[in-house]
Amino acid sequence: MNNKVNVRFAPSPTGVLHIGSVRTALFNWLYARHNNGNFFLRIEDTDKLRSTDENTKLIFKILEWLQINWDGEPVIQSSRMDRHKEVALDLVARGKAYYCYCTPEELASKKEYCLRENKPYKYDGKCRNGNTNHDLNIKPVIRLKSELDGFTVVNDMVQGEVKVNNSQLDDLVLIRSDGTPTYMLSVVVDDHDMNITHVIRGDDHLTNTFRQIQIYKACGWDIPKFGHIPLIYGPDGAKLSKRHGAASAIDYMQLGYLPEAISNYLLRLGWSHGDEEIITRENAIKWFDFNSVGKSPSRFDMAKLQNLNAHYIKERNNESLLEYALPFFKCELTEENKKNILKGMNSLKERAKTIVELADSSLIYVKAPEIYDDKCSKYATSNHLELLREIITKLNNAEFSTNEEELCNSIKEFANLRNVKLVEIAQAIRGALCGKLASPSVFEIISIIDKEETIKRLNSFVDHYSK
Ligand SMILES: [Zn+2]
Repeated sequence: MNNKVNVRFAPSPTGVLHIGSVRTALFNWLYARHNNGNFFLRIEDTDKLRSTDENTKLIFKILEWLQINWDGEPVIQSSRMDRHKEVALDLVARGKAYYCYCTPEELASKKEYCLRENKPYKYDGKCRNGNTNHDLNIKPVIRLKSELDGFTVVNDMVQGEVKVNNSQLDDLVLIRSDGTPTYMLSVVVDDHDMNITHVIRGDDHLTNTFRQIQIYKACGWDIPKFGHIPLIYGPDGAKLSKRHGAASAIDYMQLGYLPEAISNYLLRLGWSHGDEEIITRENAIKWFDFNSVGKSPSRFDMAKLQNLNAHYIKERNNESLLEYALPFFKCELTEENKKNILKGMNSLKERAKTIVELADSSLIYVKAPEIYDDKCSKYATSNHLELLREIITKLNNAEFSTNEEELCNSIKEFANLRNVKLVEIAQAIRGALCGKLASPSVFEIISIIDKEETIKRLNSFVDHYSK
């Protein structure tokens, strides 16, 4: 018997990948890597009406982005429908499943009756022992002959022992009347055929698990271990959705979060290792286990994610950071631009919480400000403008150099002589260079963009506010 750990991530391409699903993928992947097992990918695309190629491509893209690599080729569930049907027919042949000829109208009226009587509805088993008294034109469904007595017990890796009375489970449909297999059947057959040893998924699947176990038993197959992870909630305690802002994985990519920050954040959402907050991939693989996965739902904390992102932005080397940020610039960068951004990168990355912010603040090395923030006017009084004119002259006459340290000393001295605070001058210069009052040191910026560009920007600012 092969006791290698085999897990799978089985997203459905009927919508964009939810950030909670990404966490499920990550937990599966870590569990596989921790145990030197396999991490398989299965695309559950049997709902042909709602599944799109675009969503499937996004799944691959997000997993690649997060370096959650899968083993072997992805399994495409819709390509296995014949196999799913074969299993159902085999169950019928062995008396473990049966044809049900009840019409939708018949079932609907029984359902309605239960609703009226305030009773829980479940299929009454009318065709369980053969229904010969049916209309020949009816295309039957195939139902599983579920166990009627006893309990179905799950020893869940996260939830502990969970059980349900079998009398509560009804004879679920395996094959619909149009001949297509149901989700319940497809999942079980695929997990079995893929030799999945551990099914790790969101706890919204727990009720499915009881019914799936019935299918395993009927087929006579080994039942995998299950781990149901609590869902992710928004700050208001409701399941995380679009309503809370970003809910899909692609949103976070586009908002400028680094994959390492997302991975680290999702890992800590529902799992812990002592007080460790910053966890490398290497350590995550080394430490990950199900003993430390919490049972209670986790709340998504945007501020915490931002702090982690800021941390990982500082950690990245400057070249790789610029490379990563390139698609976030809304303009083409010249080699000269890139060179200058790299010179200023140490200061730029200190201040950025996202790559969007980083690209935005890097624009000071790409072009002169097109507009000035309203706050700049505070540093554009006639006194400020007069000081700036003097600075322009001194730069032109080479009385001030553009060496960062020398210029800083010169401007300090100049502020003393003119009896103004350094901050008054620095903010006026900042407004002129950046169009806003937050940026790295103005002396650093000047040393990078150099004299000609500095004078140009100072002049534009003076002209703008002199009108
Ligand atoms: Zn029936």
